[in-house]
Amino acid sequence: MKLIIIAPSGGGKGSLADLIVKDYGIPNISTGDIFREHIKKGTPLGKQAKGYIDKGEWVPDEVTINMLLERIKQSDCTNGFILDGFPRTLNQAKELAKHVTVDAVVELDITDKLVMERLAGRWMCGKCNKIHNSRYNDISKGCIECGSALHQREDDKEEFIARRLQQYREQFKSILDFYKKAGKFLSVPIKPEYFPPDTYKIVKKYFDERGFKKVKKG
Ligand code: AMP
Repeated sequence: MKLIIIAPSGGGKGSLADLIVKDYGIPNISTGDIFREHIKKGTPLGKQAKGYIDKGEWVPDEVTINMLLERIKQSDCTNGFILDGFPRTLNQAKELAKHVTVDAVVELDITDKLVMERLAGRWMCGKCNKIHNSRYNDISKGCIECGSALHQREDDKEEFIARRLQQYREQFKSILDFYKKAGKFLSVPIKPEYFPPDTYKIVKKYFDERGFKKVKKG
């Protein structure tokens, strides 16, 4: 299953992807995580990306598209993948369509107000990048995956969030129209009381109706 999840940063893409990964055995490919890995390792790509990310801007299409196309050629993507944070521009969506037929596009439809509230509680592991939320994780105990210390991200500051949301609303309109026209599109209205399993339940029903199969483990 080749899946795209579309939501603003802080809209619940990562949490939903985690649940799908566990059930369907396909990797979640977060372009944001790949950039952060490169920045940590100090690679040329990381140095290039850091300038944009630190300013709360997006990395140029050319850099991002090539990186993504390389990533999905790897063997763990044979049965499909989830794209989390890609595409972020219409150009990225069109380029991707030249190389890959996606099976489903899921939009998490969330208000700006709710994103702001949720990001205020977002904490990230410095080692494995796992995202936690103080709404439902005990952040005083460190990372739930590897026990390492958690921190709040530089780009989760309020001014960056507001700018990112505005960018998201402007730029995603054309991307969403593109996928709506292509079909295989599900929009999930996110309610304030929703936790990740609530969203997943709606998405899973959609997958079941379309006969998407889980990969057998073992
Ligand atoms: P995220 O973790 O998805 O919020 O991504 C963190 C940052 O990485 C973003 O604010 C962008 O600067 C950059 N980034 C991630 N994915 C993309 C993309 N598809 N296109 C451009 N920039 C991206």
